[in-house]
Amino acid sequence: MNQHFDVIVIGAGISGSATAYSLAKEGHSVAVIDRFAPAAMASGWTLAGVRQSGRDPVELPLARAAVAIWETLHEELEAPLHYTRKGNLRLARNEDEYDQVRRMVAEQSRLGLALTFLPDNQAIRAVAPGVSTEIPGASWCPSDGHADPHATVNAYVTAAGRRGVSFLLGQRVNSICTEGGRVTGVVTEHGRIGAACVVLTAGVLGNELLNPLGLEVPLDVQMVTVIRSVPVAPLIEPVIGVAGGDWAGRQQVDGRLRITSGIHPWHGGMSIDTGTDGPRPVVQPRMESVGEVVAKLEQLLPGASAAPVEALWAGLIDMTPDALPVIATAPGIDGLVVGMGFSGHGFCLGPVTGMLLADLALGRPPRHALDAFSFERFAAGRAGSVEPPTLHG
Ligand SMILES: Cc1cc2nc3c(=O)[nH]c(=O)nc-3n(C[C@H](O)[C@H](O)[C@H](O)COP(=O)(O)OP(=O)(O)OC[C@H]3O[C@@H](n4cnc5c(N)ncnc54)[C@H](O)[C@@H]3O)c2cc1C
Repeated sequence: MNQHFDVIVIGAGISGSATAYSLAKEGHSVAVIDRFAPAAMASGWTLAGVRQSGRDPVELPLARAAVAIWETLHEELEAPLHYTRKGNLRLARNEDEYDQVRRMVAEQSRLGLALTFLPDNQAIRAVAPGVSTEIPGASWCPSDGHADPHATVNAYVTAAGRRGVSFLLGQRVNSICTEGGRVTGVVTEHGRIGAACVVLTAGVLGNELLNPLGLEVPLDVQMVTVIRSVPVAPLIEPVIGVAGGDWAGRQQVDGRLRITSGIHPWHGGMSIDTGTDGPRPVVQPRMESVGEVVAKLEQLLPGASAAPVEALWAGLIDMTPDALPVIATAPGIDGLVVGMGFSGHGFCLGPVTGMLLADLALGRPPRHALDAFSFERFAAGRAGSVEPPTLHG
């Protein structure tokens, strides 16, 4: 075995690159291995809302801690992330949704999150004049926001690189090696690399590496359609979601609209695009979903659908039965740490996920309680989904 690192991180999305940065900041030798490139999968496909509102109560403390970090993350990473904190509106389109959003605001206020219920259209249009006059109510969380996902992941990669992290890109990890119940490294297409600890942040593909070890994060892989326009005149500052989670959108700081569908069953297709930036996985959206996303855009933000389309794609979502991630050490294998199953809302959490996975990799108590994010909850049957999981931007 030629190379040896303290920790190998599999996956250069936001979870893996943030973990590598946290570990390197404490002086550990780290390699990040990615089959494609930074932000090649969910962390690039994402809407990139940075949201606390609408979170599961057990996840809310993590989201709040993440938002606190996002405020100065650009200084920490010494790069622009295009993070903007201009709020999140969840729109209610009818009476049922009105009650649903009002209940959500009451519950989340009880948990200490500063958000309000906007009870009429005038109140909504006071914070977002572009919203349709037909929308009767909304939740409003002013401390939510959004960021540029590629800029963020690349900022982590560059900052980690400055601290000595090796990025082995375009290399697939074929297996995680163990001996006597302990991690000893990984085998890639180019050979074996040693490490006493492996952090697995491989998103929807993570089970390919867990299954041979007798482990699995139960994932229902779903897809979401994303459409991006060319830059247009300022239209909307907050991230917009809807009760029911069947649409979300935002206007990037560069003026581009970025809008998404809800979650749909994945058709199973994924091809590899060998573009100038190197190979990247591509999932094609269904035409019917594209039409639906645009129709909802026009219903919620009248006039916006006239914007010319610049790009469209689909993204895969690693949905667990309770729509909560696994952030845990793997049972029965010393030195294996897993961060997977972010269920469509792991971008916001990225900075905290990185710190938590670093805590676990270094064998110290995590800085936030992680009981709700264990492997064991699935075996114990505690992770049944009460309501169908949804996306909210
Ligand atoms: C359309 C869409 C909208 C979303 N909207 C939001 C939102 O508004 N707010 C929010 O917080 N979250 C959102 N999310 C979710 C969020 O983007 C993800 O939870 C987050 O990006 C997951 O990051 P990750 O690093 O864990 O995984 P990923 O970004 O998927 O990274 C996994 C990496 O592992 C690599 N890999 C896989 N297998 C191997 C292997 N065998 N060897 C080497 N490398 C491997 C892949 O190439 C990939 O780069 C959205 C997701 C999608 C798809």
